[in-house]
Amino acid sequence: MTNGSSEYDIVCDNLVRIYQTEGVEVVALQGLDLLVKPGELLAVVGASGSGKSTLLNILSGNDVPTAGRATVAGHDLLEMSGSNRAAYRRDVAGFVWQQTARGLMPFLTAAENIALPLLINSMSRAERTARAHELLELLGIAYCADRRPKEMSGGEQQRCAIAVAVANQPRVLFADEPTGELDSATADDVFAALRRTNEELGTTVVVVTHDPGVAEHVDRTVAIRDGRTSSETLRRTELTAEGHERVVAEEYAVLDRAGRVQLPREFVAQLGLRDRVRLELEPDHVGLWPGHAGQDGERR
Ligand code: ADP
Ligand code: MG
Repeated sequence: MTNGSSEYDIVCDNLVRIYQTEGVEVVALQGLDLLVKPGELLAVVGASGSGKSTLLNILSGNDVPTAGRATVAGHDLLEMSGSNRAAYRRDVAGFVWQQTARGLMPFLTAAENIALPLLINSMSRAERTARAHELLELLGIAYCADRRPKEMSGGEQQRCAIAVAVANQPRVLFADEPTGELDSATADDVFAALRRTNEELGTTVVVVTHDPGVAEHVDRTVAIRDGRTSSETLRRTELTAEGHERVVAEEYAVLDRAGRVQLPREFVAQLGLRDRVRLELEPDHVGLWPGHAGQDGERR
């Protein structure tokens, strides 16, 4: 298995990250699996401390996992050398931080900030300026072109930071709680900008948040619990009998590539499941029963 890159932009296979601090081990990721297709707009949610930033830091090339496999657009993040890592962060992975000003140079205007990463390409000054204005337009902040970051609101700064991150057309854009410091109306503008980036530029987008409301803005939401993906919510629109569009969200358990499923805690509690369960294959579903001792003998 060498090339999952054509089918998936992101492959995480049994990803583990253990932090060592003062002799204490913290297992931030414990066997996380994740597959993201090219052009997906994905949200990652989870409680504080569940491992969301750890995952994003690994995928964006800022941190190295302890074990497992992580590839982004065919780049193996465990094998990557230091110089390749820098090129990876420049060309393949864009990043937007929670602190709005972090991705922006304070003494440059919005347009200059966006043109800056384009200097490494053999683009003329006019081409760089045109590209910067194109992106400002796309993200709805054309009126900010000549403003410095401190002359923009938090939401405008964050949309400008998105433009800077995608200026060089990275394959994937990562955003770690980009709306964490914004009110909800402004947060909606930033989510809309991420969606436009995804739809118009075709960038694969992974946005981390602890706000479950984000699921309204994306097609798929993956929940992380204790350093593992635990469930997914898929959103689709369907037509009602009256012909109206309705958004339907369905939650699924994650099935990993070895065929493992984690049962929701409440299911386990409700049926008193422990140690083993009995499975039966039906034509279109799988039945699951408590597997108490003695039951085997009673089976047909
Ligand atoms: P989230 O972003 O979901 O809030 P993090 O990925 O930041 O979660 O953290 C996951 C776990 O790893 C937490 O228990 C956190 O304390 C720990 N952790 C994160 N970064 C470090 C670090 N640099 N050193 C030690 N422990 C860390
Ligand atoms: Mg975090």
